Amino acid sequence: MRKTIIAGNWKMNKNPDEATKFVSTIKNDIDSNDCDIVLCVPAIDLISVRDCLIGTNIKVGAQNIYFEDSGAYTGEISAKMLADSQINYVIVGHSERRQLFNESDEMINKKVIKAIAHGIVPIICVGETLRQRENHVEIEFIRMQIKNALINVSGTSKFVIAYEPIWAIGTGKTATASQAQDICAEIRKVLAEIYDPNIADEIQIQYGGSVNSKNAKELFAMPDIDGGLVGGSSLTDDFVSIIKEAI
Ligand code: PEP
Repeated sequence: MRKTIIAGNWKMNKNPDEATKFVSTIKNDIDSNDCDIVLCVPAIDLISVRDCLIGTNIKVGAQNIYFEDSGAYTGEISAKMLADSQINYVIVGHSERRQLFNESDEMINKKVIKAIAHGIVPIICVGETLRQRENHVEIEFIRMQIKNALINVSGTSKFVIAYEPIWAIGTGKTATASQAQDICAEIRKVLAEIYDPNIADEIQIQYGGSVNSKNAKELFAMPDIDGGLVGGSSLTDDFVSIIKEAI
């Protein structure tokens, strides 16, 4: 039985003061045993948010890692550093990183492998552009992203897939629940091909793209959608309402 997982992606928002103030006000309202809750915060906030969440079930995630453990990689943070700091999740392959920072499928695969090796759960983002959807190549494209991200990743590893159509991120344009369900079902199908249907059945698949408290319930009710990766709405009290829709 898959648990719902709601993860907030704060992107480059909230300094440590703002982060701890916000988390202190919402943490009791979002703490849950029935649903996995993750806050993916900027690197500078990781430790203060982690400390602020002690005594709750809410997990902390980073938004990126590098695929080496240490060394001359100015500006980067490793999965090992996250693990040593009791950080539990990391977003890998977000479309903003793919597009703005030229992250390739190969780099994403290396990051996924490294995260898993250090016991960090990668939230692996995939999703098509508007142009790909208009040209009806979205399924083919997403299948390729998944296969490439999971090269040499065992089916017994813990990872999450986030389906995030690029045209729906930060635009206010949500995929309809049935559009999102269709792709999440395809994702589960490709996972069954890579591993087997029983393993695919256990993997959490999120939808992301302008999720808010008004559309969350319908999206999360879909059979292959196991929660959401939430950007803009995770910065406000709406995040609390989204979680209430999920539990
Ligand atoms: C995201 O950044 O992963 C995201 C889904 O953003 P938003 O909810 O703002 O569309």
